[in-house]
Amino acid sequence: MENPRVGVFICYCGTNINGVVDCEAVKEFASKLDGVVYAETYPFYCSDPGQKSIKNAIKEYNLNRIVVAACTPKIHEPTFRICIAEAGLSPYYLEFVNIREHVSFVHLEDREAATKKAMELVAGGVERAKRLEDVPKKVVEVDKSCLIIGGGIAGIQAALDLGDQGYKVYLVEKEESIGGRMAQLAKTFPTDDCAL
Ligand code: SF4
Repeated sequence: MENPRVGVFICYCGTNINGVVDCEAVKEFASKLDGVVYAETYPFYCSDPGQKSIKNAIKEYNLNRIVVAACTPKIHEPTFRICIAEAGLSPYYLEFVNIREHVSFVHLEDREAATKKAMELVAGGVERAKRLEDVPKKVVEVDKSCLIIGGGIAGIQAALDLGDQGYKVYLVEKEESIGGRMAQLAKTFPTDDCAL
């Protein structure tokens, strides 16, 4: 594996993070971690200028692993995967550390402890980032057939829907006939038709 050259990017999220966590102290801490060659802070990394700052740093410092310490990955992990891919890195060379929901939002009253926790999470993120490997994309042909177990009304409807979509359908029923509970009803609402 190539020598990891980790860049750490710590987001203020305006005052959402920086109002509680001392982001500059986290940056200083991160810049001294083994494998880290660059660390910086920015008010809003998900903005265009914020992403540009990451891309510039990747090129200028020849970074090959990226740690973004920001919000929940549910929101912006895809954003930063695309961002680093546009800078020429594998999108899988990103480690996302949540220092907002996991730190500033839950430790509002204790700046010192919140900052310490953010440092520890970033240190963990850096170690994980150093071990990241690329995941090549692969296209796999899918056999367009499906098996439905149970020939009740749900199974029958699923078989019809999937058949309409062009799938070959195998419908398996353990009883002698299909229809399930529906076939046991004499009348159905609202027409009073026989269920069969
Ligand atoms: S990347 Fe996340 S933490 Fe940073 S400004 Fe955007 S929403 Fe806030």
